[in-house]
Amino acid sequence: MNTAIIINITYVFSAILFIYGLKELSSPATARRGNFISSLGMFIAVVVTLFSQGIIEYQWILLGVVVGGIIGALAARMVAMTAMPEMVALFNGFGGLASLLVGLAAFDPKIVSQFSAAAIFLSVFIGGVTFTGSFIAWGKLSEKITSNPIMFTGQQIVNAILLLGLLAAGVLLISNPSLNNDYLWIVIVLSLLLGIMFVIPIGGGDMPVVISLLNSYSGLAACAAGFAINNLLLIVAGSLVGASGIILTQIMCKAMNRSLSNVLFSGFGSPKTAKGEIEGTVKPIIAEDAFYILEAASSVLIIPGYGMAVAQAQHIVKELQELLEANGAEVVYGVHPVAGRMPGHMNVLLAEADVSYDVLLEMEAVNPRIENFDVAIVIGANDVVNPAAREDESSPLYGMPIVNADLARTVFVLKRSMASGFAGVENPLFFKENVRMLFGDAKESISQLVREFDQ
Ligand code: NDP
Repeated sequence: MNTAIIINITYVFSAILFIYGLKELSSPATARRGNFISSLGMFIAVVVTLFSQGIIEYQWILLGVVVGGIIGALAARMVAMTAMPEMVALFNGFGGLASLLVGLAAFDPKIVSQFSAAAIFLSVFIGGVTFTGSFIAWGKLSEKITSNPIMFTGQQIVNAILLLGLLAAGVLLISNPSLNNDYLWIVIVLSLLLGIMFVIPIGGGDMPVVISLLNSYSGLAACAAGFAINNLLLIVAGSLVGASGIILTQIMCKAMNRSLSNVLFSGFGSPKTAKGEIEGTVKPIIAEDAFYILEAASSVLIIPGYGMAVAQAQHIVKELQELLEANGAEVVYGVHPVAGRMPGHMNVLLAEADVSYDVLLEMEAVNPRIENFDVAIVIGANDVVNPAAREDESSPLYGMPIVNADLARTVFVLKRSMASGFAGVENPLFFKENVRMLFGDAKESISQLVREFDQ
């Protein structure tokens, strides 16, 4: 069998591993295996490509693998769970930069065809936008730059001019690649600028959606790079990343009841999101009193949110769950699809604490029976339990599906203050008759409850 056939068969095998791995990622129970299977597919693909292409000396490749591997391993070990979206943003950015560089390296004005020039244009254009866009997203999330939307008059016009300039440079480049090769540099500069302009008007709150979208772009850039260097597997892998990124983006938008264009162009998160007058009074409770109510409860719903991640309270939450169960209560978790700061954030944290997948229920599963829970414990969640999303048409959150915590018999809200959540919208839940506020760091508050049970 000739080498090209063997390589292509290996590529098909790798592509099957990618697709199977993706399928396994769709459930928390099989996600680890899915991750491993996909990585194995990529490892096989990389090894076969390196052996077959003879691109550069192997010592350079080895050096790159060692240096990159050390940086990646250190970054993965050192990153705090709450900073995971920032890390994903950086990875996307580097993915975009890699496609840009592949496109640039593949461009040989003497021999490049128009088809290749078109593929190179796309990989450089999308890769450039992804690179700078992801770095702005990283800056906003890590608050290295302001997370408020940066907007100015005529912004849309500037963006339209940039985009038109880019397309014009692309058309000229593709029409005669050997003569108009300098336009590639114009494409690079304009796409880098467009990436910045695209992300600055979006509020820090919407960055996880932007990151997911840029993840999709990085896949498209890789796919275009695959066409540029005629590598089938890069085309397949890029398409899979592009498609899964856009599906995830849609899921996030749907869970927030917002359209993608609203996320990208509305400047959501600027201080204009109003705070209304709320009826009712706030009723604080101390851990000792909360314990007595919990001790008598026969069904408890735990609703985790971003604050649980900040407090790193997942392990102590698991302890509380076990104590409640030992006391005869049924305990389940109600997980909102956008609780935390990235999809699956709560599931990952709770899995880290060995909480069984069986008791992690989705919002749709707990809402129909929410009235039957004796106690709902809201741990550092705010927007995802805000009843204004259901009741108040003037609220910016109106229409977003929420976990209807307020409908449980008694609700404990564990947070440090009356501060609003990510969307900057006040929460009428805290003022409802059946709600008690257990103020303090979530880990500390739950530790107090656990101590009460232990005594
Ligand atoms: P929120 O950001 O609405 O609220 C988190 C709450 O946690 C805050 O009100 C804060 O109150 C509290 N908190 C912070 N630190 C602690 C601590 N140490 N101990 C106790 N409480 C703490 O989080 P939700 O999870 O409810 O909602 C997620 C938000 O993120 C939604 O608006 C969603 O749309 C948005 N989002 C989520 C994405 C995702 O994929 N998950 C993607 C994009 C956006 P206090 O300061 O008083 O303690």
